[in-house]
Amino acid sequence: MLMKDKSVVITGAGSGIGAFTAKVFSAEGANISLLDIDEAGINAGYDSIIKAGGAVLKQKIDITNRDDVFKAGSAAINKFGKIDVWINCAGISIIVPFLDCTEDIWDKTLSVNLKGMYLGCQCAVTHMLKNGGGSIINFSSQSGKKGGARYQAYCASKAGVIGLTQSVAVEFAQQNIRVNAICPGVVKTPMWDRQIDDYAKKRKLKPSEVMPYFCKTIPMGRVCEYSEVSDLVLYLAGDRASYITGQAINLTGGSLMS
Ligand code: NAP
Repeated sequence: MLMKDKSVVITGAGSGIGAFTAKVFSAEGANISLLDIDEAGINAGYDSIIKAGGAVLKQKIDITNRDDVFKAGSAAINKFGKIDVWINCAGISIIVPFLDCTEDIWDKTLSVNLKGMYLGCQCAVTHMLKNGGGSIINFSSQSGKKGGARYQAYCASKAGVIGLTQSVAVEFAQQNIRVNAICPGVVKTPMWDRQIDDYAKKRKLKPSEVMPYFCKTIPMGRVCEYSEVSDLVLYLAGDRASYITGQAINLTGGSLMS
C-alpha cells in the first residue's frame, strides 16, 4: 500500500494511461479524483474503483478552463481533505503535415497539452502549499525532447511541458513540492488507435505495419507497457523519490538517452 490515504488527482483519467494509473493508485490505497472531458471514460473508471472497494470522486472537466480545474481541486479537498499528488495526464495528439497545420490545430494542441498543465500545476501548488508539500507529475513525451515531422504542435507543446515542469519545480522546491515530467515513447493507448492511420501515411506504411515498425526502431524491441508507465508515476509520486525534482525522465526502451 504505497499510497495509503494519499489524495491523488489524475487528469485524463477517462482513457489510456490516466485510466490505468488511477486503478493502480487506488489499489495502492489512494483516494482518487478522476478528471476528464470524457464522461463515459471517468464513469467506467469510477464504477470499477467503487467495485474494488476504493474511494473515488469523478469530475467532468475541460482542463483548459480555469474554473473547471479549480472547482475540481476544491471538490477533491472537500471530499478527501488534501491533495498529495496531482498527475497531469490529459493530452491530445494530431499528426498533420506542417503546411496543413491550421491555427485551430495549433491553438487546441497548445491549449490542452500546455495551458491545461499550467492550470493543473497552479491548482495543485495552491493546495499543496497549505498541506506542507506534494508531488506533481506532468506527462511530456519523447516528442518533448526531439522534433518529429508532421508533429510540430505536439512537439512544441510537450517541450513546453518540460519548461513548465522545471520552472515550477525550482520555485517551490523549498516548500517540499516536487514537480517532474515523464517522457514516454510509444504506449499503445486509444490515442495511438486514433492516430495510427496518420502515422502510417507519414512513414508510407500500412496501419498494421506501424507497431512492428516501432518495435524494430526501439532498442528494447518493443513498445512500453501501461504498467511500466504507472510504476514510474508511482515512484515519482512517493517518498522514495524525495530528492528528485525538475526532471524529465525518458521512458523509451532506449530510444532516447538524453
Ligand atoms: P488517451 O488515451 O487519448 O487519453 C487522454 C485523455 O485526455 C482522454 O480521455 C481525453 O478525452 C482527455 N482529454 C483530452 N482533452 C481534454 C481536455 N481538454 N480536458 C480534459 N481531458 C481531456 O491518451 P494516452 O495515450 O493515455 O496519453 C496520456 C498522456 O500521455 C498524454 O498527455 C499524452 O500526450 C502522453 N503520451 C502518450 C504517449 C503514448 O504513446 N500513448 C506517448 C508519450 C506521451 P477525449 O478522448 O474525449 O479527447
